[in-house]
Amino acid sequence: MLNNAQVVDLTIPLGADVIMWPGAPAPTAETLVTVAHDGFFARQVTFFEHTGTHFDAPCHFTEGQSTVDQIPAKSLVRPIAVIDISARVGDDADAVLSLEEVLAFEATHGAIPEGSAVFLRTGWEDRNRDSVAYAGEPGNLRFPGFGVEAAEYLVSTRKIVGLGIDTLGIDSGAATSFPVHSQITHPKGLWHLENLQNLKELPPLGAWVVVGVLPLVGGSGSPARVIALLP
Ligand SMILES: [Zn+2]
Repeated sequence: MLNNAQVVDLTIPLGADVIMWPGAPAPTAETLVTVAHDGFFARQVTFFEHTGTHFDAPCHFTEGQSTVDQIPAKSLVRPIAVIDISARVGDDADAVLSLEEVLAFEATHGAIPEGSAVFLRTGWEDRNRDSVAYAGEPGNLRFPGFGVEAAEYLVSTRKIVGLGIDTLGIDSGAATSFPVHSQITHPKGLWHLENLQNLKELPPLGAWVVVGVLPLVGGSGSPARVIALLP
């Protein structure tokens, strides 16, 4: 069935130089054994749960909601709608997806199917090696995100399962109260993917995502290998 599927990796490689949320510790890796000395190679790594291309479990902002290990596998293999507002966003770090843009997407491509995940391409992925260009300054975060009305429509009317974006967060950098996280998605059990890349290679509809998130027991999220399949 998938013999002819095109595979697109949406993941930023996870190393010490990955752009972090201000104040969060960078990942570390310590070599514990080597082939030359021990006969095999392995490292011990540490990472903040929200590092690089990563998954937000609903408990991230809502007490009592699902932890990352409680997410059913079926929820991690989903059709995706990819809304591309990069041309409109340009260099506007305060841009947010509007409800009108979602409705225009649906007028062109058809309704977003129930059970989909919705990914937003802002174009910010092109900046993800430069922390100031990508995230702004600590204390003055600046990057695009989902608008509240658009997110509310996708969750309540289209009954999607998750959101993804090519920026540091689903809520824009200027939205310091995290309204989408705290009021719209996580309270209803939806998940997020943040710091995606290569969204430009995906069609508006028709692709699937496979979210390779670690099932950390009790975890709020995890770095994830995120793969798209284009049948
Ligand atoms: Zn996160």
